[in-house]
Amino acid sequence: MEIITHVSVTRRSKDAADAVAGIQLLKRWAKKALIKTGSLRAAARLSPPAAVILTYHSVRDEPETDADWIGPGITHATKVFARHMELIARQFNPVSLEEILLFLEGRKKLPRWAVAVTFDDGFLDNLEVAAPVLERFSIPAAFYLTVGLMGQPDAPWYSRVRHAFMTTHCKTWRSSRLHRTWDISDPSARDSALVGAYEMCAPLVADTQQSAVSAIERELEVESALPRHRFMMNWEEAKALSSAGHVVGSHTVTHPNIAHVSQDAALRAELFESKRQMEEHLHGPVTHFSYPHPALKPQWSDRTLAMTREAGYTAAVTTTSGPVRMGANPLLLSRINAPRPDHEFLWNLERAFSE
Ligand SMILES: [Zn+2]
Repeated sequence: MEIITHVSVTRRSKDAADAVAGIQLLKRWAKKALIKTGSLRAAARLSPPAAVILTYHSVRDEPETDADWIGPGITHATKVFARHMELIARQFNPVSLEEILLFLEGRKKLPRWAVAVTFDDGFLDNLEVAAPVLERFSIPAAFYLTVGLMGQPDAPWYSRVRHAFMTTHCKTWRSSRLHRTWDISDPSARDSALVGAYEMCAPLVADTQQSAVSAIERELEVESALPRHRFMMNWEEAKALSSAGHVVGSHTVTHPNIAHVSQDAALRAELFESKRQMEEHLHGPVTHFSYPHPALKPQWSDRTLAMTREAGYTAAVTTTSGPVRMGANPLLLSRINAPRPDHEFLWNLERAFSE
């Protein structure tokens, strides 16, 4: 009886999985057809002028090498990134964040299919791997730095948390901070616990954030290790990007979700102090900001909006998905993701223009 039940459940779930796979195949075919026939482009032509801003993080030759630290969600293989840039250069019009600002001020017309490229977090591979590709296709970009990590051997806090969960031998995670025990005995349970850990740390800044991450490492019996090599840029490397004509902006000091940082002094430190340090090291004004979004919603609020303005930023990008059209608030610019396969990438771009 037990076995028969198991077989029928297995068959049912196989049928369900086949149905889902069939629907996905159909969707993929439909997307490819819409791109190929130019239907999305035709729809976009009827929409008012827009720019679309793409979000990237890390670009690596071998993304799997450091996958315990930097997850696939924020990594693009170099060849995939190069293909994306080639598509942008050939089928769209690359523009800078500055051109988008001028457009919003009514001082500049945007070319049709205007696309901007941005990078969050300040990974060293942005300079070593992505910048040469951008140069090959003459694409201007914006790089947002996590100031507290500049030149440091440490990984970002979310990478340390990921590393702890990916390398632990424990089957449960007993969080002293959350007073809760999580099952992490299989990959799906572990992923849920990892999200729980991200959500726990996302409102924390500076030392509080570091002690929470160290506690997770202790609880998972993982040594507080450093990555094999430095992940993050130093000031000289950031300067090289700025000298190459790219925008370099702030991504806070310690990468919290600032909408959830309750203390005003801590929020001010993330917005004002990151800007001050960048201006001191880069010897020029820093007016661009990118909202970190490690976990939790929302990522901005009226309070953060007012404080970015008070700090002197003139542009801020979010992870809210959509195009930028006339009337958009320059301190709350939407962006879109850059899925890996060509047809998904083109679909996301063309759909954003037709929204
Ligand atoms: Zn970030």
